[in-house]
Amino acid sequence: METFKLYIDGRFEAGAARFLSRNPATGEPWAEMPEARGDEVNRAVMAAQRAFNDPAWRGLTAGGRGKLLLRLADLLEANADELARLETLDTGKIIRETRAQIAYIAEYYRYYAGLADKIEGRVLAIDKPDMESWIRREPVGVVAAIVPWNSQLFLSAVKLGPALAAGCTVVLKASEEAPAPLLAFARVIDQAGFPPGVVNVITGFAAECGALLSAHPAVDHIAFTGGPETARHIVRNSAENLARTSLELGGKSPFIVFDDANLESAANAQVAGIFAASGQSCVAGSRLLVADSIKERFLALLTRKAEAIRIGAPEDPETQFGPLCTARQKQRIEEVVGKSLEQGARLVTGHYALEQGGHYYPPTILDCDGHPDAACLRTELFGPVLSVQSFRDEAEAIRLANDSAYGLAAGVFTRDLARAHRVTGVLRAGVVWLNTYRAISPMAPFGGYGESGSGREGGISAALEYTTTRTVWLRTSDEPIDDPFVMR
Ligand code: NAD
Repeated sequence: METFKLYIDGRFEAGAARFLSRNPATGEPWAEMPEARGDEVNRAVMAAQRAFNDPAWRGLTAGGRGKLLLRLADLLEANADELARLETLDTGKIIRETRAQIAYIAEYYRYYAGLADKIEGRVLAIDKPDMESWIRREPVGVVAAIVPWNSQLFLSAVKLGPALAAGCTVVLKASEEAPAPLLAFARVIDQAGFPPGVVNVITGFAAECGALLSAHPAVDHIAFTGGPETARHIVRNSAENLARTSLELGGKSPFIVFDDANLESAANAQVAGIFAASGQSCVAGSRLLVADSIKERFLALLTRKAEAIRIGAPEDPETQFGPLCTARQKQRIEEVVGKSLEQGARLVTGHYALEQGGHYYPPTILDCDGHPDAACLRTELFGPVLSVQSFRDEAEAIRLANDSAYGLAAGVFTRDLARAHRVTGVLRAGVVWLNTYRAISPMAPFGGYGESGSGREGGISAALEYTTTRTVWLRTSDEPIDDPFVMR
């Protein structure tokens, strides 16, 4: 059995307790994980606070921070195979996806390495003749980065990259569901040569670890990715330390196919949108909205593709579709799909028992026409379940698309340029993909509305999220200050 350690203040340690992590493909334990509780959480935050004020980090130039991030990117690439192996083992995500994703994550660190020395203050055109005033951009302080188990190396890169570029220090909390990739990533951080305490990597459970971390008085910013219910806890916890929060949450994203779309391309994108990563993606295009005139044709095409997906062992490079990460998730999906069928939704394909052990659940499509209250239309399932509704015209497509508490992503398939612009303008979503789906880039801001959270990760402005301003006043006159009782 493999074993992992916490990484606190530049040292690896065993943790307060150990727990077993299971391989989702078999359901069997494969690794022993360290658990951080009060003492470890507190030491990790205090190490980050000390490191924040330590000249070894504080005295480094912005360009020096950039160089460390570049080294991290190179090391990440050099270790991509091992990190991908561990992510696949612990989360069940297929190896062809984890390999490709980790290689691309290095580009996120490079992007923020390049931004480190482009974070600038400015001089004010101040309205007083004997004063100069300027604004310094300062790192906000200690960042608690809390991530879920899916795409965790990616979700931590969009937090660590900008936070470190800005000069913050970080306590990164890996999900207890599958912490192996981030605990292994700590070894890469260590090799990159960040001063001790600049990045600390821990894992643990909600009450003994996550709650303590997010309420800790020395935390200045909480960068959270996870579900909306956990986000509410995070916001409540932040009432203790008054830390800033950025929240990247779930989704129930619409995927709109108009009658003039390239159907072959749209069907492939819809497969990517809901069946890639076995649907365990915050941007899953889980609500197909299709023009009624092409509904049957499109559904037939999609069903053929869904039924041809190669389901198999996640470590096999030929596999296209692996297990869900946890047994709990599988059970929840089965329940919501079962309830939706009782409510009148029609099963197009899927929802059968697979022969594999582990937490497998097949690609599933539910036709919800005539049943707008079907549970699957509203509940984020975080799995391979597509709910279908048809629309008569553009106005109805928009109304259905926006009829959600979430607002993370949307896909629109049409060859009508004017319509693409019109629809993009009114969709309540932080990311809109036109004639494509599930594309990401370090340059592209990412985030949502409503239950999908607030704040944007990625892009230039994300680095500024980890800064605050300090306004400096300099009196240039040599004359003594006059009337001390009047505000200047
Ligand atoms: P989750 O909310 O259960 O857990 C996320 C993290 O929060 C874990 O590390 C967990 O230990 C921690 N946590 C749990 N309770 C806590 C508490 N009380 N205080 C502090 N921390 C606590 O999420 P999950 O089920 O692991 O992940 C799935 C969710 O994440 C889905 O809703 C998905 O859409 C969302 N997600 C969003 C994005 C995005 O970028 N918008 C990306 C990936 C996943």
